[in-house]
Amino acid sequence: VLTPFREILEERRAAGAAAGAFTCYNGETASGVLRAAETAGVPAVLLVSAGSLRAPGGRFLLPMLRAAAERAGVPACVQLDHVADLDLARAALEAGAEAIMADGSKLPYAENVAYVRAVAAEAARRGAGVEVELGHIEGGEDVAAATAAGALTDPDEAAAFVAETGADCLAVSIGNVHGAYAAPPDLDWERLARIRELVDLPLSLHGASGLPDGDVQRAVSLGIAKVNVNAEIRARLLVELERRLPEAQPGANLLDLGGALESAVAEVVAAKLELLGGGVAAKEDAA
Ligand SMILES: [Zn+2]
Repeated sequence: VLTPFREILEERRAAGAAAGAFTCYNGETASGVLRAAETAGVPAVLLVSAGSLRAPGGRFLLPMLRAAAERAGVPACVQLDHVADLDLARAALEAGAEAIMADGSKLPYAENVAYVRAVAAEAARRGAGVEVELGHIEGGEDVAAATAAGALTDPDEAAAFVAETGADCLAVSIGNVHGAYAAPPDLDWERLARIRELVDLPLSLHGASGLPDGDVQRAVSLGIAKVNVNAEIRARLLVELERRLPEAQPGANLLDLGGALESAVAEVVAAKLELLGGGVAAKEDAA
């Protein structure tokens, strides 16, 4: 069921849980994500990257993901992940994105505010939501340097930033990074608690692939209402592809191969969703 981004996050926050947001590259990844969400009885955010939209055939991906979200048995929506390009954000909204992650985190503060406000205005016209980032969450290529260099979210600045931009969700940088971790990071819990005190919005945690389960659960208990997962899905897909390819090749059996990839994604996603809490099973336990 297509559901507004804001509504999904607020419902998860109220449930003391977090929404899982998973990068979808094609039909198999999307149906794997939604199958796991339906089994768990929790909502899901289907993430599409700017790179995917720009790729050949990218113009078909977003409408397909939106159709999948509409037909899902749980609340779902499509979000364009990390975009620093207003035109691409606009195109995604036109193609049916329910949310934009307006990433101006590499810009100086004032320019970041101006960029996010422009995206937020476009999104508001279509009833879509906006996620912002303050403090820069580095990519996986230079993990050690990124962590050492800091660039963590400043709680006071974050409070001012969300007030100025009218954002619906704030991505925090508390020592988390995108991609794989060389070693489990030392997340700055005090900083997260302080942000939580000052920012009354659902918070999101990116780079959750490879974080110890206990850290993810602790983050949710401290107010993280959305968790982005990408690297673990990609890694698992490639392992599955390598394993299944020899048996698929003789008969050129694409359907079985596609089904196996979908199941592999569903397994990764199911494990994450259980960590994020608030599912049908958890509700039954509480009753
Ligand atoms: Zn991210």
